[in-house]
Amino acid sequence: MSSRRHSHRASLIWAAAPQGEPRHARRARANGAAVGSGFDAEPSGRTHPLTDRSANARLHAYDQRVKGAFDRIVPVLKRIAQLRCAPDFVAQAQVIAETELGFRMPEDRLEEAWIAGLDLRTLFAWSVFETYRRMADEFLIEDPLGGRESSSFEAFLQECGFHMLDVTPCADGRLAHAISYVLRLPFGAVRRKSYAGGLFDVEDAVTKWVEIEYRRFREGRPNTADAPTRYLKAVIYHFSSHDPAQQGCAAHGSDDARAARAALERLLAFRQAIENSFCCGASVALLLIGLDTDTDAIRIHVPNAAGEVALDRSVDAARVYDMTCDLAPDAARARVLELVRDAAPDGAPDAGKTQLIARLIENNLSQIDFVRALHGGRYGDHGHAERFMGVGVGFDEIQLRNLTYFAYLDTVEEGAADLDVGCMIFSGLNVSRGLPIPVVIRFDYRGAVPGARERAILHCQRLDRALVERFERQASAGHLHRLLAVRDTDAGTGLEIVGSSLQRDGIGGR
Ligand SMILES: [Zn+2]
Repeated sequence: MSSRRHSHRASLIWAAAPQGEPRHARRARANGAAVGSGFDAEPSGRTHPLTDRSANARLHAYDQRVKGAFDRIVPVLKRIAQLRCAPDFVAQAQVIAETELGFRMPEDRLEEAWIAGLDLRTLFAWSVFETYRRMADEFLIEDPLGGRESSSFEAFLQECGFHMLDVTPCADGRLAHAISYVLRLPFGAVRRKSYAGGLFDVEDAVTKWVEIEYRRFREGRPNTADAPTRYLKAVIYHFSSHDPAQQGCAAHGSDDARAARAALERLLAFRQAIENSFCCGASVALLLIGLDTDTDAIRIHVPNAAGEVALDRSVDAARVYDMTCDLAPDAARARVLELVRDAAPDGAPDAGKTQLIARLIENNLSQIDFVRALHGGRYGDHGHAERFMGVGVGFDEIQLRNLTYFAYLDTVEEGAADLDVGCMIFSGLNVSRGLPIPVVIRFDYRGAVPGARERAILHCQRLDRALVERFERQASAGHLHRLLAVRDTDAGTGLEIVGSSLQRDGIGGR
């Protein structure tokens, strides 16, 4: 695969927009807002009065479009494989690939099929990587979910008394859509950093807190340092109502109570770290959220007036749904607020925090309807069904459930446990079907920092070598393919591909 910077061709397969069409109209059309989406096409389908049906249609279309692009790869390769003895095989294969997948296959790999056989593992990995690259570029350049239109939510957040929302979901692929779908928040207004089991790195969170406070002090963004707002740190743990003993959080042995307790302990350690390290009453606000990965319904452990969280007291969005679904929208909204107040263990939190929690619950009602309308109330893929593994730092573009297994790490040693779990998951998903494990190794960098791009590339290459060493058996059997990508977060552009195990000359000139 050739190295390519800042591709602007990403959207061609996704939606060929007529020239001159306004961007917002193109986005709505590309997302299929007006076509059979399961919401518009279902006049009898009852939804909650606060459900945003048009957002559901848009989000569904995006999900279908992206996952559909990945899921077409195997059937297309099977069709191509059947043609390999045809006299014009290469030409026919390219027509099928271009029509069905939107891109051409590497010509040399097709041409050598008559003598070496068709290397379908390589073509599979190549296709997954190309599909990922196109999806990522579209997301990063065109913002198909509108997640960068975040000013109104940022204003609301400040009205509620917070200048930052920092969320740690579990790294499980079934939570990758937590921000854009489950909580319906613009991803540009939220810091998301996933960790296995929700067990975020306290030092990393403190560093982020310092950065945010310093920016308020120096630049007055998002507000000045003397404004009476706080940094809000949230963790999302998860559980499975369908199969609680098997499909809960792997990092906590599918023990829901343990997952919630561990997440709360980590939140309390973070608050303690801030209070012990900085004077003048420095503190943070905490929020503990549970997610049922079968239904996408959340529960929020509403803190009391003193900010204390009780593990056994929460407001459950699925129950709120049932209790408010027959009300008019305004009455339903008022009732949600009451239910949030009532859920606090003793003395409701301040008005701002109550408002914010009520908003999150209200947003989640749309997602509950999303799962009800499209998945019969419960996802069919209640286990793992990720399409590729993402390793490194970055991945803003991954906002879909069960698309990617994440291992956020700087070094293989640091994320060894997550990598082993990922490899095990993909041995079941892919290797057992004869398909390789596709791994995207990715580091974001800030272009304004001298030498940052070169360091990000070195990071990718080092991680790639370490992965090959750790999973030597799979790599030498052709069962582990890697794509190396970096991205300049200052430039607001797409990915830069800097290497791949599919390159014949090896990765990064090795
Ligand atoms: Zn988990």
